[in-house]
Amino acid sequence: MQANAILEVRDVTKRFGGVTAVNRCSLALTPGRIYGLIGPNGSGKTTLFNCITGLDPRDAGEIRFKGARIDGLKPHQVARRGIGRTFQIIRVFPELTALENLLVVTREPFETARRRAEELLRFVTLDRLQHEYAGNLSYGQQKLLEFIRVLMTDPELILLDEPAAGVNRTLLNELLAAITRLRDQGKTILIVEHDMKVVMGLCETVFVLDYGEKIAEGPPGVIQADERVIEAYFGR
Ligand code: ADP
Ligand code: MG
Repeated sequence: MQANAILEVRDVTKRFGGVTAVNRCSLALTPGRIYGLIGPNGSGKTTLFNCITGLDPRDAGEIRFKGARIDGLKPHQVARRGIGRTFQIIRVFPELTALENLLVVTREPFETARRRAEELLRFVTLDRLQHEYAGNLSYGQQKLLEFIRVLMTDPELILLDEPAAGVNRTLLNELLAAITRLRDQGKTILIVEHDMKVVMGLCETVFVLDYGEKIAEGPPGVIQADERVIEAYFGR
């Protein structure tokens, strides 16, 4: 166990039939930081998130959260330990209002939950749309809604799968500011993102996957100049 890591992934492998989606992948996250996870399409980023959150149980390796093994737990158990995540494909309920979308994920008393939901809607300036059906919100607004829904349970570790994809400039700035404020509150964030400008602006450390293997790790500026990384993105 790496000293003081909030999440440690060690030698994790996940196969689907003949495809090794994640291949002996190891990484460790220090609390209170923003980390990037990048790699070409199909390199295993979403599958690694699914291994951590219990949706695609890992075939080999160990995953520890705050020192305790979590590989082998069900998704709801992982969530209850304090890990929240968004999905690459939006999963809001279109026929519920923005506010209702937040209220359905918590077991807190209604008034407590509503206060928290209203606070989070203000956090990303969606408060004036709280009674709008989620299906009527723009794509970017729905992504912000999904992002704050993860925060309803106040997770310590937040996994974001391409939160900025398809989000317009204004909402993107809103999202980036919110992620930075979360980090300032002491949260740990691991973000899958293709836009290198976003990665450069947010992350201190970036992990690079290629064919499920971690091929590089370091500050974004160094990563961008790494030959293996350039080869993975442009070499074929
Ligand atoms: P990324 O998020 O980096 O684009 P994924 O984790 O979605 O990559 O996919 C990694 C590899 O695993 C790909 O080859 C993909 O086709 C395969 N894969 C992912 N999920 C499944 C699944 N449920 N069944 C079979 N193959 C899968
Ligand atoms: Mg993906």
